[in-house]
Amino acid sequence: MSCAHHPSISLLEAFAKGELSACWSVPIAAHTEFCSKCRNLVHSLESALALSELGGDEFSLPEEIGFDFDLDSIMSLPQQEKPTLEGQASDSVVEVNGQRILVPRVIRHCYKDSLNWSPALNKLSFASLGAESESRLYLIHIGAGATVPQHSHRGNELTLVLDGQYTDAMGEYNTGDFVQLGANHSHSPQTAANEGCLVVSMVDAPLHFTEGWSRLINPLSQLFFR
Ligand SMILES: [Zn+2]
Repeated sequence: MSCAHHPSISLLEAFAKGELSACWSVPIAAHTEFCSKCRNLVHSLESALALSELGGDEFSLPEEIGFDFDLDSIMSLPQQEKPTLEGQASDSVVEVNGQRILVPRVIRHCYKDSLNWSPALNKLSFASLGAESESRLYLIHIGAGATVPQHSHRGNELTLVLDGQYTDAMGEYNTGDFVQLGANHSHSPQTAANEGCLVVSMVDAPLHFTEGWSRLINPLSQLFFR
């Protein structure tokens, strides 16, 4: 079981230290349910943190993983079989557009009874999972054969693929893959003709559509993402 795209070490370290808000933490926690490498790394970081607190030492990355954990080599590994959620409770299911999709427990813990999906707009549906100061957390379902218009973020975007696959000019992202984009990135995710994609996404600024007619939906983006 292997994911091709992981959170950075600094992000995993901040997560293990409990420095991130809930909106930032959820996509990372969900990734660790798919990815045993990052799950083990977070456990090691938490253990090191607990030991350093007991001993009163300055926190530092454990030597055996700190600098040997070569993210580039992990990311260049060939894609193996699709990551799955091991031992997952069958009630951790998101229902969208007639599909029932097994999701990480942390996603199911974000809402009480049911999700309030927006009507599909150009095959895109959104459901809010929460908000904290400037950060917003959404489930986004992109239908099969859809293209999200080119947009930039003016802030951070953390995305975790929960089911399916999308591509953009930077790469191909499959179930379990984690993607962090900053204010300087712009992209236009696309799904394959025969398969939609469910992602959880944290944004801390409204999306800004940059091309053609889709610029007209910037006011709509303000509505979705504010
Ligand atoms: Zn990982």
